[in-house]
Amino acid sequence: NGKEQGLEFVRYTAAIKNQTQSRIELENDMRKGLEREEFFLEFQPQVSLDSGRVVGMEALVRWNHPRRGVLSPGEFIPVAEDSGLIVPLGEWVLRTACSYNKKWQDDGYTPICVSVNLSMRQFRQHNLADKVDCILQEVGLEAKYLELEVTESMTFDIDTAFEQLQRLKRLGVHISIDDFGTGYSSLYYLKTLPIDRLKIDRSFVKEVMLDGSGAAIVSTIAMMAHHLQLKVTAEGVENEEQLEFLKLQNCHEGQGYLFSKPVPAGLFERRFLTRIAG
Ligand code: C2E
Ligand code: CA
Ligand code: CA
Ligand code: CA
Repeated sequence: NGKEQGLEFVRYTAAIKNQTQSRIELENDMRKGLEREEFFLEFQPQVSLDSGRVVGMEALVRWNHPRRGVLSPGEFIPVAEDSGLIVPLGEWVLRTACSYNKKWQDDGYTPICVSVNLSMRQFRQHNLADKVDCILQEVGLEAKYLELEVTESMTFDIDTAFEQLQRLKRLGVHISIDDFGTGYSSLYYLKTLPIDRLKIDRSFVKEVMLDGSGAAIVSTIAMMAHHLQLKVTAEGVENEEQLEFLKLQNCHEGQGYLFSKPVPAGLFERRFLTRIAG
């Protein structure tokens, strides 16, 4: 009846109000958090399926929130995106990831590539390539040791995406398409865009042993990538069965809990970096 509906409405608006408030609160916290350096990076190894060696690492941001403890990106990246704070946060991630990589090279470890996720907002910035260039110069890292991950949705406007990626590629960085298979990309896009790698989304990798379609999707993406001369990384590799399957499909690299969860910098250094032989 009417009264119940009215109550329902009050509860509903109260819930929305709460949501809005906690969003605003989180946004304010984030602004302070950026100044107070509450954000930190973890690194997850990317492993060559041929050699078993760690050939790269993905930098993943975390937030050590003063009251709520460590938050995962799923809990704050959407707010960062909406508020625009993703731009300064994204730059911090880029600079910090590049700094670690440079420091490790200076300390005598075998150089590997660091992958950094770009958000839609960052990708839409006209001066993105200049900013990336500045950071590389500032940090002293060679561009070939940086890979930028974009998602399919960012390539929707193909002309703009083409120009932006071209500018980035001219710096010498690598480009990969993240979460590949979950968005919309035509073969034409893949052939046209200046990209180096596809990262097969973990939802497909997860299913390779369960039914026919996960396996079919993974092997189709891998085959397509080979024809287009792109590298392929499988995300979310959790067990040996998946690994064997991925090797059979000639996937180049794998990333996932089977090798390691993302770990803090110090642990990554001890566990996964190797000294240059000599
Ligand atoms: P992503 O780029 O697809 O990153 C991979 C996510 O999968 C990470 O979650 C990682 O911890 C998780 N993962 C890795 N291996 C496995 C596995 O074997 N099994 C399972 N179930 N999960 C695995 P995380 O760190 O929570 O990050 C989530 C997402 O947040 C990322 O997805 C990325 O889209 C976004 N993100 C993280 N750091 C940044 C950043 O610095 N900037 C931007 N714009 N986005 C970021
Ligand atoms: Ca990624
Ligand atoms: Ca991904
Ligand atoms: Ca993902």
